[in-house]
Amino acid sequence: MTLTVKCFCGAVVQTDSEDNLVEQVSAHATSVHDMDLSRDDILAMANTSEG
Ligand SMILES: [Zn+2]
Repeated sequence: MTLTVKCFCGAVVQTDSEDNLVEQVSAHATSVHDMDLSRDDILAMANTSEG
């Protein structure tokens, strides 16, 4: 399973772990956009694909 989040700025985070996804997207949002996203926010943004 692959989890992908595409940020509105065009940055893409792709990983196979929810925890890893949350960590990476959270770090991106904080450092680049000064945004504080919750785990639920991030998982709601994620697209899931098998493989
Ligand atoms: Zn971004």
